[in-house]
Amino acid sequence: MRPPYKLIAILAILGATLPAIGREAFDDISWNPRPIKVGAPCLFKVDLSATPSSVKAKWQGRDLVFFPAGSRHVWYGLAGVDVEATPGTDRLELEATMPDGQVVRAVREIQVQPSTYKTERLKVPERFVQPDAETLKRIEADKEAKREAFSHQIPTPEWSGNFRAPVNSSASEGFGTRRTFNGKLASIHRGLDYHAPEGTPIRAANGGTVVLAQELFYEGNCVILDHGEQFMTLYMHLSKIQVAPGETVKQGQQIGLSGATGRATGPHLHVAVRWQGAYLDPAQLWLLPLPRLDGPDVR
Ligand SMILES: [Zn+2]
Repeated sequence: MRPPYKLIAILAILGATLPAIGREAFDDISWNPRPIKVGAPCLFKVDLSATPSSVKAKWQGRDLVFFPAGSRHVWYGLAGVDVEATPGTDRLELEATMPDGQVVRAVREIQVQPSTYKTERLKVPERFVQPDAETLKRIEADKEAKREAFSHQIPTPEWSGNFRAPVNSSASEGFGTRRTFNGKLASIHRGLDYHAPEGTPIRAANGGTVVLAQELFYEGNCVILDHGEQFMTLYMHLSKIQVAPGETVKQGQQIGLSGATGRATGPHLHVAVRWQGAYLDPAQLWLLPLPRLDGPDVR
């Protein structure tokens, strides 16, 4: 049988023209910070030649939905690279749907650079290292509560402008540190610890919805906020929780008081940033300039 040369030729022409259409529609594609390192949050920005009805992307094996701010031509996506991700080249695969239904695509190859993290040895009460049967049951129930919180869906961002640190004090222990507990259990510090005497007010890093507010075995009294699109902040070891699940909070709103509940060596605040399962460096998030999504110039 003759191979379908005509069909192959048509497909070849389509294949050659599709990326060109993509280049025309995307005037500019940029990201911050540069370079992007393992464990970093990042903001993608696309400038389009016309107003699309939607913009989405694939990044780090996850789906990212973009949103406009300030101008209907400029769309943003807030994402990151997990603390345990492998450095190397990753593809940002963009897809915009134009008002006439035409889908345009663009791809950027982005170098994800390695980060260097310290190793630390900690001593904690033995029950946190080798939990008994009853505690294991509790840890399982905690896992279920967290799984439910992490699967929460808000289709649009509830944050606006830069995230802010939840306390004014300095950070005591860095993000990404490799830890051993009593010389046995190894883990990665997937958050940032702040010096905070018992009872220090803890404030929401940005606007969001409370998706978990309860006591957990390791995390102690814990609050999880979803800022939209599963971009979340977690606050642990609180002495008191002052919000309830389902509640919406504004940036800077007091959500609890610091403490030493759960697996903590003393009063402090552990803050974590989680985007669709990827843990990101909170300190870098506070420094990342983000667009304001409210105000008269938007939409
Ligand atoms: Zn911590």
